[in-house]
Amino acid sequence: MVVADVTEATVAELNTKSPEELFRWSLEAHGGHAGILTSFQDTGCVMIDLMQKYAPGVRVMTVDTLRLPKETYALMDKIEARYGIEIERFLPQPAKIKKMVNQHGEYLFFDTKAKQEYCCQVRKVEPNSRALKSLEVWFTGLRRDQSEFRVDTPKAQLVAPDSHKLIKIAPLVDWTQKDVDDYMAEHDVPKNALYDQGYTSIGCAICTTPTLPNEDRRAGRWRWFNYLDDDNKECGIHVGGSGI
Ligand code: SF4
Repeated sequence: MVVADVTEATVAELNTKSPEELFRWSLEAHGGHAGILTSFQDTGCVMIDLMQKYAPGVRVMTVDTLRLPKETYALMDKIEARYGIEIERFLPQPAKIKKMVNQHGEYLFFDTKAKQEYCCQVRKVEPNSRALKSLEVWFTGLRRDQSEFRVDTPKAQLVAPDSHKLIKIAPLVDWTQKDVDDYMAEHDVPKNALYDQGYTSIGCAICTTPTLPNEDRRAGRWRWFNYLDDDNKECGIHVGGSGI
């Protein structure tokens, strides 16, 4: 099945399916063009575990910003060893990083929101776009309880980032953090060690900090911009349904 043939009725039906059914369907209908693009947070790790059980062969992909915490790199090694898979790593373009750093310095993301977004564009969004161009079915670990900006996230939707049509699926969109925690404990799913240090959302080192119990799960992202009214804690990849 090519994405151009996918109708709204198909998407509506996908919205009623279980994670297991969605993984199996993606492999049957889209083969090597189905993949999870993950930053190995808890929901992504649960999805990888489910995929290895129900649909081994769905690609496991990540954007390596070259700024990730050492705990995330260690987790990637652990996942590869545990499941016998090779994670596809999409890196930023060296020339774009060189230009950015020469113009604004290595730590430009502290200066202004615009410079932080520029860094995210170079290190995350562009490699993410490149990864998506190789997919027809894009699995993500988005959940509605992760932030106020994700409460309306559908399980399945048609999106077209950079005019590339995709079926974007968040199989665990209606799971709670407790559901995820319970599954991880029951199935001994590999977990990022930073969660034991107070982190509730994990991205690049420096740009992610631990959160307090009364804070939004993504409040630790770019914490120095928390005073801004329009700070939405998204880096651009999931904004507007088109675009970690
Ligand atoms: S999270 Fe920080 S280091 Fe990572 S890409 Fe965005 S601004 Fe750059």
